[in-house]
Amino acid sequence: MRTIKYGLMGMLACSLTFLSCSKDEESPESEEQNLTQEIPEAVMDAVRTLELNDNFVRYGTFHFPDGTTEQRVFIEEDIVMTEEQLLQMAEAAQNADGDRQYSTNYLVSQGRNISIIGYTGGSQALSSKGQTALQWAVNNYNRLSGVSISFTLTFGTNYQSKDMVVYDNTVNNPSGAGGSAGFPTYNGLPHKFVQIYGLNGYDTNVNEHVITHEIGHSVGFRHTDWFSRQSCGQNVNEGAGSVGANHVSGTPTGYDPTSIMLACFSASEDGEFNNNDITALQNMY
Ligand SMILES: [Zn+2]
Repeated sequence: MRTIKYGLMGMLACSLTFLSCSKDEESPESEEQNLTQEIPEAVMDAVRTLELNDNFVRYGTFHFPDGTTEQRVFIEEDIVMTEEQLLQMAEAAQNADGDRQYSTNYLVSQGRNISIIGYTGGSQALSSKGQTALQWAVNNYNRLSGVSISFTLTFGTNYQSKDMVVYDNTVNNPSGAGGSAGFPTYNGLPHKFVQIYGLNGYDTNVNEHVITHEIGHSVGFRHTDWFSRQSCGQNVNEGAGSVGANHVSGTPTGYDPTSIMLACFSASEDGEFNNNDITALQNMY
């Protein structure tokens, strides 16, 4: 199966042109490039404390919808945090009971109705396909029973007052395909900025998959295969710091090949949660 990585920022990847490149060709290259980044030890310690995959940490330029930028830490290729957020989360994790269940310690406040806007202005506007896919992704969450959070979707450019904004950053990622997001903050809000890029050549279901996946991170989902990245055709060996991540009860402890939260996706995704993803959301919320 062809696999596609998230969050490549045009650095390494299987671009649309090279979609048929084999996973064997891309994997060693990406590991090598990520391992050569200079990361301060305090940042790496925080990554390990959070049991994030410490083979995939780098600094990169983060683009806001209005075109401004900021240097942020990119982890597991599609998770973006400021150093401050990362260190703050690590501190909270050390004080928590470790019951993390493939999710982060900070979650969105129970029962919150999340305002989410599909960005439609300027060079980072969602295409009509992207807008449809966002509607489908929001429907994926809103149709679930036994999940206390919900979403109210609008389209436009006034994102400052919204909890989340979804935009298309292809202009700054001309050769990659995927998305990026982050994790909820200490104050019970979802991660605000969700990007997709390079997806216009894929069908609406693949766009729906990537947006649902990135919203998943933003409400606290980890990668289902964070321990191995098997979905990317990899078997990344974790260090001692990675032991102890707990699982959501009722979900598999091993590789779950149809989870929407796998680290890599294919061009034939249907964009839907599997039953384990739904169980996890019901347990988190
Ligand atoms: Zn991801």
